[in-house]
Amino acid sequence: MTTQLIIMGAGGRMGQTIARLAKEDPAYQLAALVDRPDCLDRLRGETCLVADSLDAVLPRCPGASIIDFTAPAVSLNTARTACRTGNPVVIGTTGLDDAQKAELAELARKTPLFWSSNMSVGVNVLLKILPELTRALGEKYDIEMMEVHHNRKKDAPSGTALSLGECLAEARGWKLSDVRCSARDGIIGERPKAQIGIQALRGGDVVGIHTVYFFGPGERIEVTHQAHSRDTFAQGALRAAAWMQGRTAGRLYGMQDIF
Ligand code: NAD
Repeated sequence: MTTQLIIMGAGGRMGQTIARLAKEDPAYQLAALVDRPDCLDRLRGETCLVADSLDAVLPRCPGASIIDFTAPAVSLNTARTACRTGNPVVIGTTGLDDAQKAELAELARKTPLFWSSNMSVGVNVLLKILPELTRALGEKYDIEMMEVHHNRKKDAPSGTALSLGECLAEARGWKLSDVRCSARDGIIGERPKAQIGIQALRGGDVVGIHTVYFFGPGERIEVTHQAHSRDTFAQGALRAAAWMQGRTAGRLYGMQDIF
């Protein structure tokens, strides 16, 4: 079965990558591309529907899966709009605050919604194995993380770093918000035991690097994930969009549901 797609933020880095891969795969058909009025130039020459608002295309794309990699407020609006039409939505946007995440979870009770801070296979496998590694190493190992991204990224730490941090904290019986340290400067004293440091570097065109460090007595383990291209996230988003076809509302779905 072919999955019909509406891409929100189609002129952006992720939107363009998803559209390119969808065109190469007969399992997908681009129904519509949506971006802000000032970005529609980037979509000139496209043969499917092109518009500056979701409302303008939805009546002509019943049942199409919407993929949204834009900005937190925009993605929430996409989810609210989809509540009226029932189109499934796959959101990859990061940087949502707690209230926005709570609203997304609430909307997911009414309409089929999917959100993941990182749609690559590698990071989602890490989310499964890192808790096991944390428990096996035990409490003597200090956990720290470093993430590196391109210089146009808007949020920090990255959504992926926060997801990895949450799974590491949970494995220790902590809540990430209680133990996260993302800035060290001046006379800060000894490192508290109950702490996970997450530092962010920004520069150039780095797609995404996450390294988790387990510093122990006389040794350390480093686990690194490097995204070489956005294709890895885009393939995950396409897979999620197909998986969401025919799904019912109930709870917010994520990559762990697919694997
Ligand atoms: P980008 O700035 O290149 O693209 C965002 C696009 O959204 C732009 O084209 C912008 O014009 C468009 N947009 C903004 N407001 C809009 C609106 N009201 N209607 C329609 N389009 C609108 O950013 P990007 O690098 O593509 O990243 C987008 C988001 O995806 C970020 O939050 C980023 O962190 C996240 N991301 C997630 C993953 C993942 O696997 N989940 C991977 C990479 C990036």
